Amino acid sequence: MPTPVRDFRSVAVLGLGLMGRGIAQVIAQAGIPVVALETGEERLAAGIDATGAFLAEGVRRGKVTPEQREATLRRITGTTAFADVATADLVIEAVVERAEVKRELLATVGDLLASEAVIATNTSALSVTDLASVVPSPHRVAGLHFFNPAPLMPVVEVVAALQTDPAVTAALTAFVERIGKVAVPVKDRPGFLVNKLLMPYLNDVVDELDAGLASAEDIDTALRLGLGYRMGPLELLDLIGLDTHHHATTSAYRATLDPRFAPPPLLGQMVAAGYLGRKSGRGFRVGRPASATEEVTAP
Ligand code: NAD
Repeated sequence: MPTPVRDFRSVAVLGLGLMGRGIAQVIAQAGIPVVALETGEERLAAGIDATGAFLAEGVRRGKVTPEQREATLRRITGTTAFADVATADLVIEAVVERAEVKRELLATVGDLLASEAVIATNTSALSVTDLASVVPSPHRVAGLHFFNPAPLMPVVEVVAALQTDPAVTAALTAFVERIGKVAVPVKDRPGFLVNKLLMPYLNDVVDELDAGLASAEDIDTALRLGLGYRMGPLELLDLIGLDTHHHATTSAYRATLDPRFAPPPLLGQMVAAGYLGRKSGRGFRVGRPASATEEVTAP
């Protein structure tokens, strides 16, 4: 079994959506070059532009200097060609939360990479053990679960699959610390630690909204102020992406048959309607007139 690379010098991020672009930014800000892979030029440009805009906002707020913004963007090389990720010694997968897409991608990348390169998945709730099983040398696969938005959220769950070599989780823990985050080691269970607790909470809230317990706005206000959270649960769902939460909670439900993970019917309807939250411009709170969120009705 080859010794996994410990001091990752070149990183590839697969997928430049909400999470991938933030993860690429954090790594580039730590001085490490990143190759970022997307499915097409348009999505690639959108991901890089969004990173530029996020950093520009950081400059406006005095958190980042203009020079740091430029240097960070220079360290991110966008590509749509698999060949460009082949020399990375760490690959972080952050594509859509669908097992079949991730399995196909990881199998392709696993064949391309050097045998000692490490592969991490940012999945929210899929089995890392299952994803590792499609990769040659699955001992080098683990989860690196960043939170949204990755540049601002300080914690990363480091998920050990059944096959993961402890040297790989140790190397990833050191990497997480090197990029300025706090690593929490967790077992490979549906939802790991944080989402295992968060998903049933979000599902209950959607059911309560559907039942007319209170308006969307009042539910957010009560839970934000009552529990001391920075965001209400419906605002949080809009930020996460309703499709992403739907995929994650559905896969956790299928894996456990625990009814707390069963996707609420209203959530499925919102996704079917294309109301995905911030990413589509309409969700439980986003894109709804104030009067609508004040009504004691579902969207
Ligand atoms: P997203 O829908 O915003 O982005 C997914 C991106 O992956 C898209 O840009 C898509 O074009 C790209 N993609 C799809 N197939 C690809 C392929 N074969 N090669 C390269 N790129 C491909 O989703 P997201 O919210 O960024 O979520 C990504 C992952 O991170 C998921 O596994 C999700 O569960 C996880 N995650 C999400 C959040 C969140 O709050 N949204 C938080 C933590 C973890």
